[in-house]
Amino acid sequence: MTERHMRRVVPLLDQRSSLPRTPDAAFLSNAKIIANGLLSDTRGRPLRDLRISVTDRCNFRCNYCMPKEVFDKDYSYLPHNALLTFEEVTRVAKVFVAHGVQKIRLTGGEPLLRKNIERLIEQLATLRTVEGLPLDLTLTTNGSLLARKATLLKTAGLQRVTVSLDGLDDAVFRSMNDVDFPVADVLAGIEAAQDAGLGPIKINMVVKRGTNEHEILPMARRFRGSGIVLRFIEYMDVGATNGWRMNEVLPSSEVVKLVHTELPLVQLEPSAPGETAERWGYANVSGKHDVAAGEIGVISSVTQAFCGDCNRARLSTEGKLYLCLFASRGYDLRSLIRAQASDADLASAIGHIWQNRGDQYSELRSAMAADNGNGQRRVEMSYIGG
Ligand code: SAM
Ligand code: SF4
Ligand code: SF4
Repeated sequence: MTERHMRRVVPLLDQRSSLPRTPDAAFLSNAKIIANGLLSDTRGRPLRDLRISVTDRCNFRCNYCMPKEVFDKDYSYLPHNALLTFEEVTRVAKVFVAHGVQKIRLTGGEPLLRKNIERLIEQLATLRTVEGLPLDLTLTTNGSLLARKATLLKTAGLQRVTVSLDGLDDAVFRSMNDVDFPVADVLAGIEAAQDAGLGPIKINMVVKRGTNEHEILPMARRFRGSGIVLRFIEYMDVGATNGWRMNEVLPSSEVVKLVHTELPLVQLEPSAPGETAERWGYANVSGKHDVAAGEIGVISSVTQAFCGDCNRARLSTEGKLYLCLFASRGYDLRSLIRAQASDADLASAIGHIWQNRGDQYSELRSAMAADNGNGQRRVEMSYIGG
């Protein structure tokens, strides 16, 4: 195995805190943390959003995420028995929900590649928040299988989808997904999702300077007034394989300026605390938000840190809990589950881990070296999801 192929071998322990790597008996015998939705971390941030990666595989090779040279035929993906089963995912999710999670996003890899994903959705759809409400249950997909699966997903209880689409120009899109996948098939998937009622749909466009910035305006024109929210994401330095360079990041402020020159915008209030996207509405002639024309979002993870109210936890395909998208290490919840821990023990472990969380990578980025400041490799986005 080459150095390049070792990036998924992440140690189990998050050494930035003094917590044990797999919460053990001694850890669990400390004061139990009761799941009552009131949990907060060292910076007072609650736990509200859980992103669950259901597979580390993908049928695309987007060069900013799973470059072909690394994720080639010799790459070893997780074996099936390493993956959390749907029952295990649901059990952990239930504990997270008791701790205050209100939103669950399924991701990957490509989540629609996980066999019978609709069965997991059925199970998750039965969960209720601490307030007794249904979860905001969503999924991020590259859209390649959406035309086939949209109705099935909706019937299973999925509320909405986010589709990743980096441009409308077929040649640009084919080269960015790097498997020659046609844009028309993703557009058909988006249409099927709309028909199935999986809305409001969001579209994520990763903007890479020099690669697809000329697609910004065509994308804005296409989705303005469609009921779909287009979000422009700054190309991020996640993982260690995408050869990220700052000069390929197009700051969101420039995206907003560009769209505004042709389609005037007004800034909108965030829709929820911890919201990752800054919202901009299309303006009418009097400079007010034209609701029918809709809005765009910009996610400025590189140029504008938004860690202050980050309420997101991430569960990897094999059951490791990551407290930050840029973390090097996760906490092994699968061992705990498979060692027959009770729900109360699981809740206590997750509670302790969250209470000790102090992650703020985006805020520290400028002060840190590219190797994460401590010589450790960051986890790949395709492994823990976006
Ligand atoms: N395969 C699915 C998809 O592409 O939507 C779900 C997983 S993907 C890792 C989740 C999101 O992360 C996608 O919207 C993708 O564009 C985004 N993403 C991946 N690598 C990124 C990077 N280096 N910078 C910014 N966004 C990235
Ligand atoms: Fe696959 Fe999504 Fe990563 Fe693209 S961004 S390689 S579609 S996981
Ligand atoms: Fe949250 Fe980490 Fe992103 Fe900051 S860098 S917003 S803590 S995921």
